[in-house]
Amino acid sequence: MEHYKNNHTDCHPTSRCKIDPAYEPTKKIITESFAEELLIKTIKKTTMFKNATDFSFGKDTHYVESYNNVLNIFEDKRIAFSSSEYEVRAKLATLHWNENVDRAYTSQWQAPSAANCRPKTKNVYKTKTYGYHDSIWIRYLSKIKRV
Ligand SMILES: [Zn+2]
Repeated sequence: MEHYKNNHTDCHPTSRCKIDPAYEPTKKIITESFAEELLIKTIKKTTMFKNATDFSFGKDTHYVESYNNVLNIFEDKRIAFSSSEYEVRAKLATLHWNENVDRAYTSQWQAPSAANCRPKTKNVYKTKTYGYHDSIWIRYLSKIKRV
């Protein structure tokens, strides 16, 4: 709350408001107690506030973005799937992501830098694996045998 009141005394040491001498708030500064109460009420309703321990190690969003990229591959937004088809595709996307997230890379290369950007190091990842296909197939076949 204090951050939004432009008081950064207790903000995290790595926060931009602490390290950037030219920092200017991007949001309107809260000066009215009524607005402060409304913001507190809204914050307390969020999933993140209610389940704070689930987010205690989350400092970046690359895993969520990575998972969303995989979901977009399995659940093409241009195609309307039935609810059950969506559910199957979400589960396949999760299996695929779990199997391939954080896979090793074979080499790195320096991407050419654009005019105002610093050069980026890109990883050449090992080929994706699809072990979950076999796992699903084996489970399917074992169900057939039981019938
Ligand atoms: Zn701050």
